[in-house]
Amino acid sequence: MTLTGGCLCGRIRYHASAEPLWVCHCHCEMCRRQTGAPVATYVGFPAGTVKWLDNEPTRYRSSKDVERSFCPVCGSTIGFHRVHETNLSVGSFDAPEALPAADIWTGHVWFKEHIPWFDTADDWARHAEFPPERVEELNALSGQVIKG
Ligand SMILES: [Zn+2]
Ligand SMILES: [Zn+2]
Repeated sequence: MTLTGGCLCGRIRYHASAEPLWVCHCHCEMCRRQTGAPVATYVGFPAGTVKWLDNEPTRYRSSKDVERSFCPVCGSTIGFHRVHETNLSVGSFDAPEALPAADIWTGHVWFKEHIPWFDTADDWARHAEFPPERVEELNALSGQVIKG
């Protein structure tokens, strides 16, 4: 499977060649501010499986283990980068309807920060923060060089 996508103006284009790991709605305040949306929806891929075509997005280090990326021309949100994952914003895909959401991990995280009048119609689990197994995974990788 190769999934393609990019920003609004077309400067940033990518090919994601691996099976996606998960689709996640994040309700945290940082994602809200960075995307300008009430919730940020990202799709996870293993580091190294997303190829940028002509240009790479600009990155902003938003916390110790995370960089967020965007198009420097049109401002579109593109990625959320960790040591082991490149996570792409769902709105940047050419065909988000093709994502195999029914077959992979899905969920809402940081639901405790959600806007009280905003939710989505789905039966995905709503986690107050990250689920415990994700916290363990991220803590084990903390402090390493971001490769995603
Ligand atoms: Zn752009
Ligand atoms: Zn978030």
